[in-house]
Order: sequence, then structure tokens, then C-alpha cells
Amino acid sequence: MNTLIIGAGIAGLSCATSLQSLGHNVLVVEKSRGVAGRMSTRRGDDWQCDHGAQYFTARDPVFAAEVGRWMQAGVAALWSPRISVFGDADAHHAEAGLLRYVGCPGMTAPARFLAENLSVQTRTTVSALKPAERGAGWQAMTLEQGLLETVFDNVLLAVPAPQAVPLLSAHHPLLADIAAHTTMRGSWAMMLQFNEPLAVSFDAGFVNTDPLRWVCRNSSKPGRTGTDTWLLHAAALWSEAHIEDDANDVAEQLLKAFVDIGGAVPTSWTIHRWRYADMLAPLATGSLWDPSTRIGLCGDWLHGGKVEGAWLSGKDLADRVSNEQHECAL
Ligand SMILES: Cc1cc2nc3c(=O)[nH]c(=O)nc-3n(C[C@H](O)[C@H](O)[C@H](O)COP(=O)(O)OP(=O)(O)OC[C@H]3O[C@@H](n4cnc5c(N)ncnc54)[C@H](O)[C@@H]3O)c2cc1C
Repeated sequence: MNTLIIGAGIAGLSCATSLQSLGHNVLVVEKSRGVAGRMSTRRGDDWQCDHGAQYFTARDPVFAAEVGRWMQAGVAALWSPRISVFGDADAHHAEAGLLRYVGCPGMTAPARFLAENLSVQTRTTVSALKPAERGAGWQAMTLEQGLLETVFDNVLLAVPAPQAVPLLSAHHPLLADIAAHTTMRGSWAMMLQFNEPLAVSFDAGFVNTDPLRWVCRNSSKPGRTGTDTWLLHAAALWSEAHIEDDANDVAEQLLKAFVDIGGAVPTSWTIHRWRYADMLAPLATGSLWDPSTRIGLCGDWLHGGKVEGAWLSGKDLADRVSNEQHECAL
């Protein structure tokens, strides 16, 4: 079986790892320069900062075993920050006893670890799928390399729901419709660098007052080096309302809110606009697989959101493809 997986986030890489272990020839294509998707780390002169996923949990025993494998390989570690809550303490608080894991030395590390044993082609944006001219199967049109020659038996989309829609609409209107009905929300992320470590009594904070939702001393995570760096995430609804605003205006408001909770003005900063950060209502189907067209979908939006859900969704799709026993879950 030749299988094409579109998207090298943790869902696509999890799916690829499982299918390859079951004997599939798998090619993963990714539009960015590197793997990991939203488990991302921004790097600058003498600083680094996880500006997407902040940490992950492992409630499912199968995922917990995978995290154990990552820890053994040195690409993940436990993170035990001192967490404060600002604003309404009942709104979003730190769950007692929760184990929080991070990629090591950056959030991209687990994805890079998985990609080492896979065939991954980065800087390859799939712009359209095409039924193979002779016989069954699929080919992929890409922005960078034109039509990929290989004919794939299976095409699996491991991309955020809105990015799956244009690839599916001509070939599978029903799956396209499901993806189109999943609304994803944007998020602003600001990274701050300080010459001197900030003198505060917390490493991270849930902020229950707009515009902030989460602040974190990235340097408090294990394995990080360089300048003291903080990450600010804006609240989901606030981000949605301000997603088209000028980045400097957004930065000014986030910074003011950070100073108000005890932070300080940084030596330098940079800001990132996530178009597709999370879902208001993620689905709980695990994954979607249509054995008649041999098109599948996985990703956090199909499995409760978050890193754990994304990894489990990729594995779920691999199981469906290899078992061939599930109908398209509609
Ligand atoms: C700001 C922010 C904070 C978060 N905080 C947390 C957190 O604290 N804890 C947690 O567990 N989760 C968190 N998450 C969510 C977590 O990052 C995601 O749930 C998870 O990483 C999703 O993985 P995925 O593989 O499903 O999708 P992605 O990581 O989005 O991967 C999809 C990949 O597909 C690629 N792609 C898209 N279209 C194409 C195409 N046409 N051709 C080729 N490639 C394509 C993309 O470039 C991307 O690399 C956060 C996310 C954000 C943005």
C-alpha cells in the first residue's frame, strides 16, 4: 500500500508511524520548512520560545506509553511550573496533581523524533488531489513540485479542518462538509525577551481577564537555554475579535495586560497570529475513513483537540485504514 499523508503535525506523524510499522509505504508531505505543526518553537538570536502548544497531558494509557518512549529518548520531559491564577479563580484554574509534559529541548522535539524514521517531504503544499489516470488511486498536485508522480492507494489528510475543505470538495463533498462545519478559532501569541530574568513568583499563569489567557516563562521549561523568554497567549474570544487588527496594536494591549499582572516591558518582542489555533467544539469521532474512496482525515479537531487528541486521532486513522472494518463515520 502506498499512502500519502498530508500534514506533518503530530497527528500526521503518529498516523505515518503506525501505518509504516504495519508495512505501508508512507510519504508525509508538509507545506512548512519543518515538521511539528502547531507544536512549534520560534528561535531568534539567543532565545527560543514555544509559541503554539504550551504543554501536553497524557490521560490515555496508549498515549502515556508513547510519552514514556519520548521521555526515554530525551525528547520530552515533565514540567512542573509554579502556576498562578489571575482574575476570576473559578473560570480557569490549575488542575491539582496534573502532570504536564513538554517537548525537549523545544516543543518540536517529539515530532522531529517521529519524523527521523519516516519519509517526510517538507516545503510541499498540496493544492489539489487528482484521481489517477489509469486504474484506482490518487495523485497530488503541489505548489512547489507540480504533480507528484507516485500514485497513492490511500490519501490521508492530517491538516486543520478549514485546510482540508478545498482538497476534499471536488472528490468527497460529504467529508468536505463535515470539515467545513468545524469552526476553528485564531489566537495571538507574543514572545518577550528580557536581558535580566524577570523577578516574579510564578512560572506560568492562567489569566481570566481579557485580553490575556495564559502567560509562561518559556525558560522555566526543562532543557531551554538562552535569554529569559516569556510567552503571552491572548484569550480565544478576544483573539477572534481582534484577529485582523494591526499586530503592533495587539502587542501594545497584551503587553499592558502583562505589566498589570506583575510582568515588565521586555528588551525585545515578536508577535505571531495563529489563524487556526483551536476549536470551539472539537468532534469526538477519533478520525474519518471512507474505504470506498480511500480518503481519510485525522487531527486534533476530530479527537477532542490538543496534542494528545491529535496523536490519538492519527493512530485511530491508521488502525481504521489497516483494519478496513470501519465504515465512513458520518
Ligand atoms: C496558540 C496555541 C496554543 C495551544 N496550546 C496547547 C496546549 O497547551 N496543550 C495542548 O495539548 N495543545 C495545545 N494546542 C493545540 C495543539 O497544538 C494541537 O492540538 C496539535 O498540535 C494539533 O496537531 P495536528 O497534527 O492535528 O495539526 P497541526 O499541528 O496543525 O498540523 C497540521 C500540519 O498540516 C500542514 N498543512 C496544512 N495544509 C497543508 C497542505 N495543503 N499541504 C501540506 N501540508 C499542509 C500544516 O503546515 C501543519 O504542519 C495549542 C495550539 C495553539 C495554536
